Amino acid sequence: MKEKIFKAIILVSIVLILGSAALSNIKASANQNSNDSIFQSNVVFYPQHQDDEVLWAGSAIVDAIKQRGADHVYVALISDGIGVNIYKTDEGFKNLTKEEKQQFRNNEFKKSLKALGVKPENIIFLADRVIHGETYFDELKKTILDFEKKFNGEVTQIGHHYKYDDHAMHRKGGEILKELTEKGQVKHAMFFIKPWYSKEIPNEDKLYFTADNKKEHDVVLNACMSYKDIDESNGLYGIGYKSSPNYFKNLLKDDKLTSILTNH
Ligand SMILES: [Zn+2]
Repeated sequence: MKEKIFKAIILVSIVLILGSAALSNIKASANQNSNDSIFQSNVVFYPQHQDDEVLWAGSAIVDAIKQRGADHVYVALISDGIGVNIYKTDEGFKNLTKEEKQQFRNNEFKKSLKALGVKPENIIFLADRVIHGETYFDELKKTILDFEKKFNGEVTQIGHHYKYDDHAMHRKGGEILKELTEKGQVKHAMFFIKPWYSKEIPNEDKLYFTADNKKEHDVVLNACMSYKDIDESNGLYGIGYKSSPNYFKNLLKDDKLTSILTNH
């Protein structure tokens, strides 16, 4: 009798274990599916500065490439990045020309995007397109509308959040994208947010992009290291990390290297 009860317990346990494993598989694939269909056929990210792409959107860029292919994922950098504090406070950078300052920051940015899998021909530097009398944000607006036209609305355009960000320039870029969306000139926009603003966004409006395995984790980690590693022969001075070490530490504390995007 005892043996029968024992067998029954074992059987029930097996059923429960298998059942919960099946359920968690369903959950995982449901998450996957909801993110799978989120991007239009083409995707454009608009970081304000060199480092914003990996800090707030690294895993989202990796996922966009996985879903839509590297040919269809673009990154357009808004600012030249020469206003970074470290250029004013660190003696070692004081005598650089404007061009050198921009170049050094772009070297880190290009290395980061290479690690993330973005094609060099899909990287756009808006600061280099600005003509006399224009601002970066005029150029941003033009570029957003050009992409909308080029892909006939089959594009997801992603910028900083227009409200929940403590950097005024980040918000400004987000506002332009938001305005164009409200006017119906952009069909599908999304906004990346710094994780500590996540609580301001309702759950149903948020999407989490994560490094799902070691390979993806290493990809985003390598992109971060482009801003930390010093390799003077290749023009790399660790400017991004020196400027905002806590942003990098905060991201790297998260095993999943999560990017949070919102539709609103
Ligand atoms: Zn920034």
